[in-house]
Amino acid sequence: MPRTIGEIASYHAHVYYDPATSRGEAERLRHWIGERFLVTLGRWHDVKVGPHDQAMYQVAFARELFPTLVPWLMLNHGSLSVLVHPNTVNPRRDHLADPLWIGTPLAVHGDKLPEEAEMEQAPAPNTAPTLRP
Ligand code: ZN
Repeated sequence: MPRTIGEIASYHAHVYYDPATSRGEAERLRHWIGERFLVTLGRWHDVKVGPHDQAMYQVAFARELFPTLVPWLMLNHGSLSVLVHPNTVNPRRDHLADPLWIGTPLAVHGDKLPEEAEMEQAPAPNTAPTLRP
């Protein structure tokens, strides 16, 4: 039997950048996202963290936002790589086997991720959008 989308509690988009060359572009994209989408913008990680091979910040969002935020990122990611992955009970599979990439794919170090976890519902948004995507 195929898996059902009920497995997906929420999504993350990880926006990668190079602190030396593309942090400004990442700041602009983050600002644009906050102006347009009710999401949770995570902290800046200017150094590699967890399974991620480059500096990045996370955008956590509810399932309902996928059909607007993901196409918008396709059009507006510029030179940045973005990893969009579902949040199920298996973070390793979510990041390695089941994500989609916008822009150039990067390495993801799955050995740093568990194969079992609690379902991660989207956290409370911390943006106050005023513009339409
Ligand atoms: Zn994530």
